[in-house]
Amino acid sequence: RLHNLVQELKGNIRVFCRVRPLLAWEKERQKGLEHLHFPVQDNKALVLSKVEESHIGRDRKGDVKYDFSFDRVFSPACSQEEVFEEIALLVQSALDGYHVCIFAYGQTGSGKTYTMEGPDDMNPETVGMIPRAVQQVFQGARQLEPKGWQYHFTANFLEIYNESLRDLLVGRPERSAELEIKRVSQSSEELHVPNLRYVPVNSEDEVLKLLRTAKANRSVAKTALNDHSSRSHSLFQLRIEGWNPSRDLHSSSVLSLVDLAGSERLDKSFSKGERLKETQAINTSLSTLGLVIMALSNKEPHIPYRNSKLTYLLQNSLGGNSKMLMFVNISPLEENFSESLNSLRFASKVN
Ligand code: ADP
Ligand code: MG
Repeated sequence: RLHNLVQELKGNIRVFCRVRPLLAWEKERQKGLEHLHFPVQDNKALVLSKVEESHIGRDRKGDVKYDFSFDRVFSPACSQEEVFEEIALLVQSALDGYHVCIFAYGQTGSGKTYTMEGPDDMNPETVGMIPRAVQQVFQGARQLEPKGWQYHFTANFLEIYNESLRDLLVGRPERSAELEIKRVSQSSEELHVPNLRYVPVNSEDEVLKLLRTAKANRSVAKTALNDHSSRSHSLFQLRIEGWNPSRDLHSSSVLSLVDLAGSERLDKSFSKGERLKETQAINTSLSTLGLVIMALSNKEPHIPYRNSKLTYLLQNSLGGNSKMLMFVNISPLEENFSESLNSLRFASKVN
């Protein structure tokens, strides 16, 4: 409760930055390289620096520095557990009836999927935020049982590619059916996706099974088509309905966890056909997300939810009674400097 109060005072969006470590093969490759780009940081600040050749004299070098600060900065050494510790209370507030949305933003290869889902082996030590959040919610619900609370949970998992929605919980060929966003009823502002699987779940294990199904469905698609997972958003949602009959209380909320499409700038002049459509869809949806978050934090009267499928779908869970967290994932590689800078700038704007 104290946490909720603190957050109300701070506003409802937080931004956490996470820099992934160098991978083994990258370390090999980097050996002997002179300009190793590595952001220097503490808990809340990060300095991106780059040594640049000066234009004046060939051997004069200038050190260009960009300072950023966020609600939290995680260094490459931070474990999944340490990261989760910082979001556990936020996740827990979904049981108190707050909508909670967590996004991972960053270029392809920066660690978004690692952060949200974890590595493919689903090792309990390294699983990501989605399985940890699910576990936290079910544990929290069990702790509230003696106080008279009962809960009902429903999960769904979908993918948005080129502004079209696909259910990740069904295999092909049904999966190729395109889904639409509709109002629950004409008089309601509430939205749903008819034909999407909303699966009632009773335990964390049942949800883990669904996560594995989604992973399997996605990897089938990976080999069948060319891998478009880096160019699509994936959205996992857990709807939480709570009752406390003896106190006549009711709560309803949705926990949404989003692994966004890669934010890298694709060169429009080189992309044609499908690829151009993809590029435009990604640019529109990521910039719309940024605009929606900014409009919400400035309390603007018009919020452009309907400009992208992702924000339209999340319309009920963003703003109002909701809490948002964005991870900005950063690659430690020198060659990714300008993409890192773009991501940090985007994240600073929404913070
Ligand atoms: P993205 O989803 O942004 O494209 P990934 O999550 O797939 O990026 O990460 C790229 C690679 O880096 C993967 O091999 C992943 O396992 C690894 N990786 C990312 N973050 C970490 C981390 N914090 N610790 C260890 N390995 C990581
Ligand atoms: Mg990914």
